[in-house]
Order: sequence, then C-alpha cells, then structure tokens
Amino acid sequence: MEALEGVRVDVLGRKGTLGQFSKEFGKLAPQERAAAGKALNAAKDALESAFEARKHSFDTEALNARLGSEWIDLTLPAPGARPGSLHPVTQVQMELEDLFTSLGFAVLDGPEVETEYHNFDALNIPASHPARDMQDTFWLTDSNLLRTHTSPVQVRGMERLGPPLRMIAPGRVFRNEEVDASHEHTFYQVEGMMVDRNVSVAHMLYFMKTLLSAIFRREVTIRLRPGYFPFVEPGFELDIQCLICGGPGCPVCKQSGWVELMPCGLVHPNVLRMSGIDPDEWGGFAFGLGLTRLAMMRYGIDDIRLFESGDLRFLRQF
Ligand SMILES: [Zn+2]
Repeated sequence: MEALEGVRVDVLGRKGTLGQFSKEFGKLAPQERAAAGKALNAAKDALESAFEARKHSFDTEALNARLGSEWIDLTLPAPGARPGSLHPVTQVQMELEDLFTSLGFAVLDGPEVETEYHNFDALNIPASHPARDMQDTFWLTDSNLLRTHTSPVQVRGMERLGPPLRMIAPGRVFRNEEVDASHEHTFYQVEGMMVDRNVSVAHMLYFMKTLLSAIFRREVTIRLRPGYFPFVEPGFELDIQCLICGGPGCPVCKQSGWVELMPCGLVHPNVLRMSGIDPDEWGGFAFGLGLTRLAMMRYGIDDIRLFESGDLRFLRQF
C-alpha cells in the first residue's frame, strides 16, 4: 500500500512525471498541442484507473486477511452459564443456622446501620465507657453508626420477643481497622443468646462445644479465659487451638498457637433490665462468634483479606 502511494506521488503528483510533460507543452508548435494534450489526458486517465484498481485489490486483500484471522464459528454451541458457588462465609453461616434451628433457636436479622443506643447503650456500654474505645467505630453523620458487632440484635430480640428466648443473629459488622492478614474492616459474626430461668455457665459450655464440634467435624481443643465485656458478667474469652498450624504458631494465630474465637458469658443484669426483662427472674448466656474467622479455621485460609477481595480464583475453590 505504501509503495503504491509512492508511485502515485511520483507519477500523478503535483511535481510528478506527468506534470513535467505539461511543462514541455510550451516548446511544441501550436498545431501539435491539441493532439499532445489529448494523449496526455488519456495517459493520465489510464494511470489513475490503474492506480484505483490496484488500491482496491490491496484493500480487499487486507479485509480478507482480517476476516480470516477474526473468524468465529457462529454455529458452535455457546459455552453456557458458568456455575457459581456460595461464598465460604455463607456456607458456614447456613450450617450454623441449621444447627441452631435444630436446637430450638430462632435466626434473627438486624440493621447494619445501627443507633448508638442499640450498639452501645443498651449493651451496658455508657457514653464515657472505655469499652467504646476498644471498638473503632465508623460513625455516620446522623449520629448513627455501622454496627461494630451483631450484639445489638440481642437487644432487638429481647425487646421484640421477650423471655424465654433462644436466638442467633448472623451478619456483617464493621470496624475502622488497620487491615492485615488477620484484620478486616468488614467481616461476619454470629451472635447467640439464650434467656431462660436458671441458665448457667454449664449450659453455655454445652452449646459452645456442640457448636464447635459440628462446625469443625472433629474434637477441638478449647480454653476459657476470663474476659471483660460490659454486656456479660462473668465474661469469658473462648479460644480454640489454631487449626492451621495445630499449635506451634503461624500468622493467623499471631504465633501464639491459639485463636480467639468468641467472647461469651452470662448476660449482665443491666442488659436484661434495659430490654425490660427482670434479672431476678430470668438469666441467660450470650456469645459472639467470628463467622469469618471460623471460615478461615474451617478451610485453612490464612489471609482474611481474601474474603472481601472478590477474587474469582479464590471463590471458585468453594
Ligand atoms: Zn496458628
């Protein structure tokens, strides 16, 4: 194509060969000029049409080459919809819901945008309480907040259903966290609560053990440490031995061999009272379980950031 254009400029161009002939016209005798002009025009027409014909054949060749290389067979069957899969957190959540439903618990839902009252005050965390600093909160401009735990659903459950009450509340929670392999700003928890007469720590341990052996499908080693949470008294931290490294230490268990799995305890009398339940008649236990962390332990995932990454290479494994 380029060579052809070069030839066109050389021959038909303003300074081309054909033009040079016109300049010679002055040297001809007047009677010869008409015939020479005619011959020159005929030559010019012939050259131009030869040029157009060649150009057209080059264009056709280029188009055919492109069609050949980009050709698709429209008669082949379409690849079809790619089957999706449930997110690992969803799978663990559904199993937990099945398990607790079979134990007589209701599955409750609550808003992700919460009032300060439900997220803190009603859980015995007053405005000046240092416990509020333990949770880095995303505050909204209307003084509501993104819930920092699923515990406000306990409050909503007690307010709406009253005692006796058995409930779990799975859901998404938010913390203003420095994100690393074991911390995310968005993750999932399950809140559990039972309010009845004569509820003790023994009941709580029974449910915790049933829960963990069902989820991990094996015996897990647990330990109970005293823990401080304003909404329970007494309060505990329930840890399980790290299922990723089995004890020696890894990034997920922060080299300790143990993973903090859930805070739990007997419901603080103030919490019951604030939701209109008489603590002299009723008692209860409550626990908060890191659903995301549970999925990490269950599937041996060592980086929490994968869960919210949307990376299909990760998701397709489940
Ligand atoms: Zn570990």
